[in-house]
Amino acid sequence: MSKRQLAMVMDLNKCIGCQTCTVACKTQWTNRNGREYMYWNNVETYPGEGYPKKWQSSGGGFDAAGDLQEGVIPDLEADYGIPWDYNYDELALGKQFKPNVEPTWGPNWDEDEGAGDFPNDNYFFYIPRICNHCSNPGCLSACPRDAIFKREQDGVVLVDLDRCQGYRYCIAGCPYKKIYFNPKISKSEKCILCFPRVEKGLPPACAQQCVGRIRFVGFLDDEDSQVHKLVHKYKVALPLRSDYGTEPNIFYVPPVASPAKFDKDGKIIEGSDRIPKEELEKLFGPDVHGVVKNLRDEMSKRKESGESELLDILISFKQQEMFRLDGNYYHHHDNSLKPVDERYLLGKNTAKFTSFKAVH
Ligand code: SF4
Ligand code: SF4
Repeated sequence: MSKRQLAMVMDLNKCIGCQTCTVACKTQWTNRNGREYMYWNNVETYPGEGYPKKWQSSGGGFDAAGDLQEGVIPDLEADYGIPWDYNYDELALGKQFKPNVEPTWGPNWDEDEGAGDFPNDNYFFYIPRICNHCSNPGCLSACPRDAIFKREQDGVVLVDLDRCQGYRYCIAGCPYKKIYFNPKISKSEKCILCFPRVEKGLPPACAQQCVGRIRFVGFLDDEDSQVHKLVHKYKVALPLRSDYGTEPNIFYVPPVASPAKFDKDGKIIEGSDRIPKEELEKLFGPDVHGVVKNLRDEMSKRKESGESELLDILISFKQQEMFRLDGNYYHHHDNSLKPVDERYLLGKNTAKFTSFKAVH
């Protein structure tokens, strides 16, 4: 157990799928050195295959008895896709613009495809995903080297790269497939919740750059934080796939306002929802139905009376209203154990990444 838990809430009603968060993370942490295929933050279209492909049925996590479940390590080529580049240098010579590999899969391969029949009942929405910094991490339980730990001061889950031997049990054990193997250094790496920023009172880069202003960041036990209010006070933010048993600390406000469907004559079917209830239940559990009702009731209340603290929180867009991080808090802790950030910040292992071989 950690003393405190840093958490994030993402309001899926506000995500526009712009991938700014993805780029913010990628340019800060994973654009080099065997991390090219890694997306510590990715935004996938739901329904869709996700990234890596079919992560939801790749095993890991815990069963109802608390036993760690077997999981698979996604295939680098088939499930992540080999990262590719383009022949920019040759364009001025009149060459055709083309990728340097034959891509068959990659992040956002099925972006905006969704499901249903256009225009009557088609739908999709976006799900941004980062490591959930779980309270019961499958990655940590699976590691035979005790190389994964959860920080006492804020519950951030990190890999000690000195201890990691690249066995990759953690990847199989994480049901979200949010831990990645770096073939250049033969270690596993993952989202670090931007702890070097957080320790200075700054939010993670994905949250700071979010165009849709969907992300709230704070400590779960801080009653004045928006994450506390959304998760515990109003109970409208739910973890993704809590049935995996890892107790995630990234929470989602589910999508509540899909347009109505059309009948075969193109007329609106009053009271219909494009997003099937069973899909929301699969992602967010049975409590999602009560959450959707509460949010809709609150929207009506706000329209009628103009009053609603919950809606005021959800429509906030100023960063000082969305993040509550006290940099001074970290001064009271020993933050000297920094197994990850020094390698990133110092730019070690900077050999150019040129070839990519499947890791299994
Ligand atoms: S999401 Fe996966 S990698 Fe992150 S803490 Fe949970 S089990 Fe570990
Ligand atoms: S930056 Fe924000 S709005 Fe854009 S895709 Fe990421 S989470 Fe969604």
